[in-house]
Amino acid sequence: MKSIFNLNNQNLSIDGKIIAGLDKLVSVHRNLIWEQSKKFGLSPIQIQLLLFMNYHKAEYTTVSYLAKEFQVTKPTISDAVKMLFQKELVVKIENSTDARSYAMQLTAEGIAIVQETELFTRSLQYALQFVNETSKQEVWELLSKILFQLTQMDVISVNRMCFSCQFYSQNGQGHYCNLLFKSLANHEIRMDCEEHVVKVI
Ligand code: SF4
Repeated sequence: MKSIFNLNNQNLSIDGKIIAGLDKLVSVHRNLIWEQSKKFGLSPIQIQLLLFMNYHKAEYTTVSYLAKEFQVTKPTISDAVKMLFQKELVVKIENSTDARSYAMQLTAEGIAIVQETELFTRSLQYALQFVNETSKQEVWELLSKILFQLTQMDVISVNRMCFSCQFYSQNGQGHYCNLLFKSLANHEIRMDCEEHVVKVI
């Protein structure tokens, strides 16, 4: 395999250009979130934790789950949430069956920060307005396949996509959700589904 950072290789390979493009988007995303975090004296991971906890169910807001979700160690998450507790942006939801374990929930102040920061993606959303619907659907089909493949390879530790869901089945050349009782077109495959249940293989 050749380095895609060597421009001679990159420019002769569509794979190299896709990876370089994704790398550039990661840098853009990192910079945009960094700008928001500086405003509130929080780190980028703390902003991401607030965003994630605000839009996901309590069972996903434990230190263990968040460590898997963000692919960092549990001590890294514990350190990050310590400041969120100190700033009274989150509170604990005690676990009645295990005193050492807890989930977290945002306070009104935490929700206010989410509302102030969550549109940091606006420039990406704006740029997408200039891309036609068919191209966007093709891009999502490609991304969903790459993300699923990376999950299969254990490079991504958690995903809540259709392909890894117990309710997903193939429907001829297409897809079917056995929970919603409907066929799913490629562009309807979900990235992050609230009803997702991990398929046991
Ligand atoms: S429940 Fe959600 S993740 Fe699972 S197959 Fe249906 S739409 Fe996809």
